Amino acid sequence: MKTIGILTSGGDSPGMNPAVRAAVLAAHSAGLTVFGVNRGYAGMMENDFAELSPAYVADIVNRGGTVLYSARSKEFCTEDGMTKAIANCRSRGIEGVVVIGGDGSFRGARDLSERGLPCVGVPGTIDNDIACTDYTIGYDTCLNTIADMVDRIRDTSYSHDRVMFVEVMGRGAGWLALTSAVASGATAVLLPEIEWDFDRDVLAAIRREQAQGKRYFIIIAAEGCTADGKESVDELAKRTQAATGLESRSVVLGHVQRGGIPTVRDRVIAAQMGTRAVQLLQDGIGNRVVALKAEAVVDYDIFQALKMSKSIDTKLYALVNG
Ligand code: ATP
Repeated sequence: MKTIGILTSGGDSPGMNPAVRAAVLAAHSAGLTVFGVNRGYAGMMENDFAELSPAYVADIVNRGGTVLYSARSKEFCTEDGMTKAIANCRSRGIEGVVVIGGDGSFRGARDLSERGLPCVGVPGTIDNDIACTDYTIGYDTCLNTIADMVDRIRDTSYSHDRVMFVEVMGRGAGWLALTSAVASGATAVLLPEIEWDFDRDVLAAIRREQAQGKRYFIIIAAEGCTADGKESVDELAKRTQAATGLESRSVVLGHVQRGGIPTVRDRVIAAQMGTRAVQLLQDGIGNRVVALKAEAVVDYDIFQALKMSKSIDTKLYALVNG
């Protein structure tokens, strides 16, 4: 293999840039030419490529977001879209592609690999919702942002004896909510993976802590429990105020969770995973996903990786809602 491509796809996450940097430097050391594909699969179809040199990535290790931009593309999922994307790669001599993104992006990587363009996936998403890996790039930075925001919310909740509901990201997954709830000493956490009950998991938890002398309460809700037409954190706060008499408010943290300087953990794992992805392509191995298992960087067949499942950590859950 002489030339490879690299793209970032799906939701952006802090740590995508250090992964791009590592892949470009590993490829350069191996004598490979690297093309960056702007805006993920959309850019691959629309012929939006730029050659990447070590100088291009010299200043991105500490930058959040992705310098390659990211996008979602329905057209790419069609046979026509993929044919266009592959033709654009072939016209530049690209023989393999590093795809940094989530499960959806890996499905695209699988489809390209099946059509003769070997791809290696690198898990980049704040949600930590990719089954084959213990860790996804961006998760740690996002958790630190949430913990920082909740600390600020705590100051004001403490000062006014309030109940505060905080909705955090994660789409259908509760990893961000669970881990940030433990880190923030939350009164309760609501997760999409575990059935919850307002009286048992919210009101009783508040009353339990009240009996111990606590006067303010933080409840973390995963967006999978309270967004998209479900009972919102604002509605939960109103119900709580009515039931307890405690002043209750809500905040949806939103996109602030996606940005920011990647933490050391994200940068180091990104460096390891980005390098591993290039090594695989260099050895002519495609259709793989790089993963972290028990702190070791490993890789799996994409088909197998997409069939795996990952369950929420119930011991961690018991630390909050136990
Ligand atoms: P995140 O969950 O963090 O946002 P993701 O990679 O799962 O990341 P998606 O929007 O699901 O984000 O997918 C990114 C892109 O991958 C899609 O816009 C689409 O172009 C491509 N893709 C998604 N699913 C498929 C599929 N089943 N087959 C081919 N390509 C797909």
